[in-house]
Amino acid sequence: MIHDFAVIGAGMAGASIAAELAPHARVLLLEAEDAPGYHATGRSAAFWEECYGGPGVTPLTRASGGYLADHGFLTLRGALYVGRGEDSAAMEAFLASYQGTGVQIDRLAPAALAAKVPHIRPEWSEALHQPACADIDVAGLHQHYLANARRRGVAVQCRARVAGLVREDGAWTITGARGESWRAATIVNAAGAWADHIAQAAGAQPIGIAPLRRTVAVLRVAPQAPADLPLVIDIGGGFYFKPDAGRLWLSPHDEIPSDPCDAAPEELDVAIAIDRFQNVTDWRIEAVEHSWAGLRSFAPDRMPVYGFDPHMAGFFWFAGQGGFGIQTAPAAARLAAQVLLGQGADAMTAGIDAAPYSPARFAPALQSA
Ligand SMILES: Cc1cc2nc3c(=O)[nH]c(=O)nc-3n(C[C@H](O)[C@H](O)[C@H](O)COP(=O)(O)OP(=O)(O)OC[C@H]3O[C@@H](n4cnc5c(N)ncnc54)[C@H](O)[C@@H]3O)c2cc1C
Repeated sequence: MIHDFAVIGAGMAGASIAAELAPHARVLLLEAEDAPGYHATGRSAAFWEECYGGPGVTPLTRASGGYLADHGFLTLRGALYVGRGEDSAAMEAFLASYQGTGVQIDRLAPAALAAKVPHIRPEWSEALHQPACADIDVAGLHQHYLANARRRGVAVQCRARVAGLVREDGAWTITGARGESWRAATIVNAAGAWADHIAQAAGAQPIGIAPLRRTVAVLRVAPQAPADLPLVIDIGGGFYFKPDAGRLWLSPHDEIPSDPCDAAPEELDVAIAIDRFQNVTDWRIEAVEHSWAGLRSFAPDRMPVYGFDPHMAGFFWFAGQGGFGIQTAPAAARLAAQVLLGQGADAMTAGIDAAPYSPARFAPALQSA
């Protein structure tokens, strides 16, 4: 059987696009691991924050918000970008860069900041409040897409690591690492940190999708962090923290280049996180209960990559989801499926310009031909 689409990778990207394609096409979803969601998708910090990823990503995040809320995947938290006196210019620049995007951001007086973040040190006096920020039920959203995909007829195969891709007579023959073989007209590359490897296996040019390691430590602090603490993000990019079930999730906002792999936290990155946290608050850290790391994968311009490869027929990129692949999943998958199926925009995607996300931006010569 020749499938219309073979989606490689069943993280959030692959699961969501498979579910969107399924009503219109025969879709195969191939995942290397024993279960979908083992890599970046299972390791996120689980927030929906309209500014996260930069103004170029905001349209995707905002367009996804309605779907996420309507299906019960969001719980309001609010976010605070914080800084010291010397960060005032950075705060202004941040505000200016989101003008016209529709994101609500309010300046907060130091007293209001201290009320929202108990134990913050007084020198952290600058704050921008983003009230719409919410926690995302990541596992719930991922399962929702996998269940929709299966219900709509997608063949989901785990322990199916794609090792070879050969295109002949308008169709791909896909070879698995254990000798299995499948056929499909179009490859959808949703392999996260492995996206460039899949391109190379197909004979396409890699884009330069770079996996960067990000660490999260789970802290027990005294007194206990309040459940309604906002997500607190350093305007300078040195940390973020938020509460979860009586604990604090703390990240040093690290971006350590890595080969694609099963990422693990390094003690040094956890130590850096704690050091930074102790410079921001006077919460007492009682224990680091747990830590994890995952790979966030970025294209060279840090924008996602959705679209047909400009040189390789039948090869579609759905990669470079960086640190925003959960919060953008509904609109990204809908938009990419519309491109794949040759459909026009709908209510969710009408306000999104797909051009900045096209892989054609990495092939200017071809673009102007
Ligand atoms: C610490 C951390 C915090 C984050 N916080 C947030 C957040 O708060 N909000 C947010 O929106 N995003 C967040 N992200 C980013 C988000 O997790 C990613 O953008 C998203 O999960 C990417 O999904 P994906 O499906 O592209 O990648 P993955 O989930 O990594 O899935 C790719 C899949 O491809 C499979 N694969 C690879 N090679 C092959 C092959 N040859 N054959 C078959 N299968 C293959 C892999 O096994 C993997 O399952 C965070 C990420 C990290 C690491």
